[in-house]
Amino acid sequence: MGPDPLPRAGPPTVHPASADGWPEDGDDWPVVELRGVARVYGSEPPVEALRGVDLAIYTGDFLAIVGPSGSGKSTLLNILGCLDRPTRGSYLIDGVDVAGLSEAERTAVRARSIGFVFQQFHLLAHRTALENVMLAELYGGGERTGRRERALGALERVGVAHRRDFLPTRLSGGEQQRVAIARALLGSPRLLLCDEPTGNLDSANTQSLLLLFDALARQGLTLVVVTHDEEVAATAGRVVRIVDGRMTEAVG
Ligand code: ADP
Repeated sequence: MGPDPLPRAGPPTVHPASADGWPEDGDDWPVVELRGVARVYGSEPPVEALRGVDLAIYTGDFLAIVGPSGSGKSTLLNILGCLDRPTRGSYLIDGVDVAGLSEAERTAVRARSIGFVFQQFHLLAHRTALENVMLAELYGGGERTGRRERALGALERVGVAHRRDFLPTRLSGGEQQRVAIARALLGSPRLLLCDEPTGNLDSANTQSLLLLFDALARQGLTLVVVTHDEEVAATAGRVVRIVDGRMTEAVG
């Protein structure tokens, strides 16, 4: 093994992981951190979508991002998801400054550390719930051995293992979103980024999904949820509001 090629910014750089790979309680450094992040789109005229955002998100945080349309939420989510880079400032994941990474390195960080959940569940219609989850690893290049068991474990974790052999069309919206969450959890990401995850759910399914999010956060998953839904924001442990590219955090 050669030296780690990723540039690192400041201690600590190594987590005391427990036997199951999750960090121990008491971690006091951020899973992700934005420092003075600005994003200017080079359109004509240029648009300053984010204007100096500072944000530290810790293990087990359940953080909601709210704000009016056009305020910069998607831009922020794209940067958090390593799909885009800040124009200024830095973005650290587990102490690694991703702003300076190559495209291939960012892709690797994304695959290792981040899961994505969307408003549209994006399940393959002709595959069962279990197959949909297993396929995530197929495309992600995970080990073949134990793939079925890992997928089943993920479905169990989100409470839909009993639906493993169902096609998505036979599942409720809430169940489909749980399958999508199981798929996102398969690589054991530290951070789950959710874009309007309850946008297609009724109130009962929203309630039940929020209980799941809460349970996942208690297990040590870090959740960031962009939402218009007041109920989601009311349940999240932290709420940040973006207006015109500037962020403020509600305290209390
Ligand atoms: P939100 O997700 O809160 O609706 P966005 O992050 O999509 O906000 O957009 C923030 C601002 O950046 C808006 O003014 C939007 O028009 C602008 N914007 C977003 N993407 C681009 C782009 N690719 N090129 C130019 N301007 C953009």
